[in-house]
Amino acid sequence: MRRERLFSEIEGLVAGLRTIRHDLHRHPELGFAEHRTQSVVRAELERLGYRPRPSAETGLIADLHDDRPPLLAFRADLDALPIQEDLPLPYRSIHDGRAHKCGHDGHTTILLGVAAVLARMKDEIPGNIRLLFQPAEEGVRGGGARVMVEEGALVGVKEVYGLHNWPAFPEGEVRVTAGPIMAAIHRFDIVLRGKGGHGSQPQLCRDPIVAGAQLVTALQTLVSRELSHQGGAVVSVGSFQAGTTDNIIPETARLKGTIRSFEPEITARILERFRAVCRGVAEAMGVQADVDLHAGYPVLVNDPGCAQAVREVAERVVGPGRVGGAGLPIAASEDFAYFSAAVPGAYFFLGAGQPGEETPMCHHPNFDFNDRLIPLGMEMFLGLVADRLPALQARGDGP
Ligand SMILES: [Zn+2]
Ligand SMILES: [Zn+2]
Repeated sequence: MRRERLFSEIEGLVAGLRTIRHDLHRHPELGFAEHRTQSVVRAELERLGYRPRPSAETGLIADLHDDRPPLLAFRADLDALPIQEDLPLPYRSIHDGRAHKCGHDGHTTILLGVAAVLARMKDEIPGNIRLLFQPAEEGVRGGGARVMVEEGALVGVKEVYGLHNWPAFPEGEVRVTAGPIMAAIHRFDIVLRGKGGHGSQPQLCRDPIVAGAQLVTALQTLVSRELSHQGGAVVSVGSFQAGTTDNIIPETARLKGTIRSFEPEITARILERFRAVCRGVAEAMGVQADVDLHAGYPVLVNDPGCAQAVREVAERVVGPGRVGGAGLPIAASEDFAYFSAAVPGAYFFLGAGQPGEETPMCHHPNFDFNDRLIPLGMEMFLGLVADRLPALQARGDGP
């Protein structure tokens, strides 16, 4: 099964795939509620001859050869975001307050395109390839990837790959790196309890607003004063709420925010110092700090061999000058981390930025997936099939 042969099937499929993408875009669904999306994907897979089975409630797993152990797996995410769509698209979201603003409609379409090519070439492809359609990447109930892994989605799989469109990188470029590529996330929720009273009588109060202001500033020193010049973490307070009016010192103030990091030692250090700073500022200001700190997705780590495989495919698909690791790792987080923690894998970015303009970023209300990435994403995954499947079979990992 040669790469050129696989690629030759793509062009004839693109128009139909674009129609699928626009249909998915029109009907966005949130994490673990992708019921229509699941049935659209299932129907398409069944039409192609697959026998998909549900996983993680609203996800699906499809094997090219049901009777053989899976060697390679590819993953797409299915869910949309709770954002209002204002773009005047012909395929605009029909649901108020819900839209595909991360491009998962495009990722799902790419994997359906890969499914279509593989189905056509099934007799020439001896190894089993597993397609993972994952629900709830955007964080609902801890995400869908962890559940799929727990349900055994990767049992027997030797390598797993995933991709994401990324408007901050120029269209036509592929970005990948070995090691950490996306961050571990911790969320915090701090309630500062003081003593409220009249705004004219601060001496009778313990002011949680002033304590909160001190704490916001002190938390900024976690990165600037606790880490070396190389940094490697982000601490952001995203919400600070307190008080009701001008002449009352409130009882409480509430701060919420996020910590992003890439290395276990740095994560441990930041979290330890975070707790100490909260304690210390609260004590200094005479208020009580109730700190709730919980872990989100872990760091997404690319296996060096798998990252190299992506790089080699990309160099042939987009050209060597358009492949690299600039701008990586990214401080966003991704539950593909659970897949690549379970078996060797790599996650990579397809640039989607337009020259001379600021392309709306993922999660922006004006974002839309760039359909030109459909054939590019297919070439990347199919290139990995062409390169990695023979290698894994030669290793004696499969039939
Ligand atoms: Zn997203
Ligand atoms: Zn996304």
